[in-house]
Amino acid sequence: MASSLTHSAFRLGAFHAGFRTRCASKTPRAFARTSLVVRNEGTGRFIVGGNWKCNGTIASVAELCEGLNAGEIADNVDIVVAPPFLYIDQAVEALDAKRFKVAAQNAWVEYTLQDPTHHYDSDTGAFTGEVSAEMLEDLDVPWVILGHSERRTLLGEDNVTVGKKVAHARYHGLNVIVCVGESLEEREAGKTLEVIFAQLRAVAEEIDDREHSSWGSQVVIAYEPIWAIGTGKVATPEQAQEVHAAIRQWLVDNVSEEVSKATRIQYGGSVNDGNCEDLAKYSDIDGFLVGGASLDAEKFVRICNSSVAHYKAVGRL
Ligand code: PEP
Repeated sequence: MASSLTHSAFRLGAFHAGFRTRCASKTPRAFARTSLVVRNEGTGRFIVGGNWKCNGTIASVAELCEGLNAGEIADNVDIVVAPPFLYIDQAVEALDAKRFKVAAQNAWVEYTLQDPTHHYDSDTGAFTGEVSAEMLEDLDVPWVILGHSERRTLLGEDNVTVGKKVAHARYHGLNVIVCVGESLEEREAGKTLEVIFAQLRAVAEEIDDREHSSWGSQVVIAYEPIWAIGTGKVATPEQAQEVHAAIRQWLVDNVSEEVSKATRIQYGGSVNDGNCEDLAKYSDIDGFLVGGASLDAEKFVRICNSSVAHYKAVGRL
C-alpha cells in the first residue's frame, strides 16, 4: 500500500493540517496542498450504486429497469440499485440478475429503543413501519445502504445507530454500503476528516464487537459530502481523491491493511454522465453512489462504464 503513495511524506497529520488551512472563498474548497494529491489504491472491483431514494411508480420502475437491461455495460463493474422497499420485488423480477443486484435503502436495528449494549438475534417484532435486516436476508436482498446523510440529518440517525445497523446487517450476511460525509459547515471549519473518522470509528467499533460480523469486501464506504448531494455542486476529483485516500489510510491504521485494500470507496454527490470519468480516473475512487442520475437509465449506464476510465488510469486494463 505505502509503495503507491505519490508523496512519501504523507501522513494523516499532514492531511489534517491541509484541511485546517483555509482560504476566503464561500464555496467548498480543495485541501490547501492541492498539488500533492495523495494516492493509496484498493484492489476491489469498481462498484456503482443507484440510490433511487423515495422515487418511483410501477410504471417508472418498469421503464427504468427496461432501460438498464438494454444498456451495454462493461463487465468489470459491480452494479447495485436501491429502489424504495415497495419496488424491490418488482425490480428483482425485472432486472437482469447477472448484471444488477438490488439494495434496500435502510434496515432497522432494535437497540435504539432498548439496551444499546445488547446484541439481538432477532429484530422483528413491535416496530411499526420498520423493515429488518432479517427480512432482507429472508427475501435474498443482498445489499443495504446505511447511514445515508438524508437519514442522518432528516431522521436523526447518529453515528452509533449507523454503526449498530452496519454490524447487524453484516450479522445477517448483507452487503453494506455505508455512507459518510461532512456538511459544508464542517468542511469550512476544517473538520472534514474528523467528522468522517468519527463516523468510521462508530462502524469499526460495532463490527469488532459483534459476533459473526466483519468488514471484508462486503462493506463499501460511500464518501458523500453533504454539500454535494443533490445540489449539482460536485466535489473536484482532487477533493474526492484526497478524502478517499485518507479513508483508506484510516482503514490501514484502525482496521487492517488487508481490509483497506479490499474496501471499495465510492464517491457520491452530484455525479453525472458528464463528470464521472474525471472522477473515476483517480486511484482511490472505486466507484460511485448516484442519486438523481440513477433515475435515468442511459446516464446511469454511462456512469457505470466509467469503470473503464478507472481501470485504464490505474493500469488494471
Ligand atoms: C445520494 O443521495 O446518494 C446522491 C449521491 O445523490 P445525488 O447523486 O443526486 O447528488
